[in-house]
Amino acid sequence: MLTNLNYENGQVSNVDNSNAYEAWNKFLEIISLNISELKLNTWFRPIKAKHIDNDILTISVPSKDYYDMIISRFGDVVSKAIKAVLGDSGRLIYEIDISVPVELPEEIAAPVIQNPQTQNTGNYGQSHAQPQSENIYASASYFNSEYTFDNFVKGKNNEFATAAALSICNRPGAQYNPLMIYGGVGLGKTHLIQAIGNQLKDNRTGIKIMYISGPEFTTSFVQSIRTNKAHEFERYYKSLDILIVDDIQFLEGKESTQDSFFQIFNSLYQLKRQIVLSSDKPPHQLTGLEERLITRFQWGLTVDIQPPDLETRTAILNKKCETEKISVPYEVLEFIAYNIKDNIRSLEGCLKSLIFDSELTKMPISLDMAKRSVLKFGAIKNRKQNLDIGSIIAAVSKFFDLEESLLRLKTKRQEIVLARHAAMYLCREMTSCSLETIGAHFGGRNHATVIHACKCVDDMVNIDPGFKDKIDIIREELLTS
Ligand code: ADP
Ligand code: MG
Repeated sequence: MLTNLNYENGQVSNVDNSNAYEAWNKFLEIISLNISELKLNTWFRPIKAKHIDNDILTISVPSKDYYDMIISRFGDVVSKAIKAVLGDSGRLIYEIDISVPVELPEEIAAPVIQNPQTQNTGNYGQSHAQPQSENIYASASYFNSEYTFDNFVKGKNNEFATAAALSICNRPGAQYNPLMIYGGVGLGKTHLIQAIGNQLKDNRTGIKIMYISGPEFTTSFVQSIRTNKAHEFERYYKSLDILIVDDIQFLEGKESTQDSFFQIFNSLYQLKRQIVLSSDKPPHQLTGLEERLITRFQWGLTVDIQPPDLETRTAILNKKCETEKISVPYEVLEFIAYNIKDNIRSLEGCLKSLIFDSELTKMPISLDMAKRSVLKFGAIKNRKQNLDIGSIIAAVSKFFDLEESLLRLKTKRQEIVLARHAAMYLCREMTSCSLETIGAHFGGRNHATVIHACKCVDDMVNIDPGFKDKIDIIREELLTS
């Protein structure tokens, strides 16, 4: 039973120890008007009021770190609430009581789901259980030595991102802070941000640099809260020279983790320490992130990586062959590059499967073999079996209302050139015939002419929606007839 509660001018004064509980409840009521319920439950509900002595309220907290973190996050709100409850000279002091249960919000209580991408590679620091020393955090940082600038093919799709990444290596923290690289899956974000890490690590001895993925950051933070080491966790991150966080979109909807990241971000930013982030979408589309974080991401430079064009895709495959010291006919590389467009990881996977097939069957790598690999990767979607060059020429001529034989003529008449180019383009896309074979069906043209034709059509498809529709209609016709 609480007795002797004496309110004067809306404040509690001269209450005895049994009223500490009541004062604390009043304090919580005021706090709850200023912070979210999740934060209230995470940070304040576990605390117990111990006793009150005039205007000094003593509470028990699970650790000093815990108290420090509350003050670093909510210092202003706490001091206002204390004054409202205990008067202008009111003070809050703490005792440590390790038996105080830390009530974990859902995000922290629930098991954290690892990024499947990360799991697949199996390369990253896997476990963050029981972080006890700096080494635990440092060991989570994994740099893949293959992910260097030298191994990264520059193309139109990534030229700004690459330039920004290189510039950061020259002057970390100076100009583009934070650097945020965004783009779809398998387009080279991880490779590029790891290249920054690898380069800085090699060039600047003693630099304290951390690479971590969004899911791993979350896991690590959650563990630190569970083990009362959240302060240690933040302290470590705040001591870094360079922080690289991959796949920051995984922080969406995780309020407490975002909160911790916000503290770390601010501290590093003020100290002009470089922050590098990657995401699968631009900052403004990260709807599950707090506005204050999105705003901060936009303080620096945001650059995208787009899907690579044919030339870059082929160059990437070429580079992989060089690295693997394996020789693959150029035509085969082009065939793969032509058919797998949206994801460099699949491009590489297809090449690897091809090399594997060739080793297994002890047969040289051929276009037919490549076709099987590409099919395995699902790239030639809805490919109609046995589609031949003749059927494509027939369909294209019918669509453009031209005699089939005209497509084989060496004429420069505009409408015939256009139809011939379209037919060559579809032959290349829809059959596994070599460029020479395709050329031969169009009046004995060489492979360079076929490449040129395909490039013209590619360009037109990109700039002229009407033309793209025509190609789509013919393709549809070929697949369904
Ligand atoms: P993301 O992180 O965007 O999903 P990754 O960085 O994991 O993509 O890239 C997928 C694979 O493609 C990696 O093996 C990477 O080395 C390779 N890759 C991506 N872009 C390039 C490039 N421009 N040059 C060479 N390899 C690349
Ligand atoms: Mg990645």
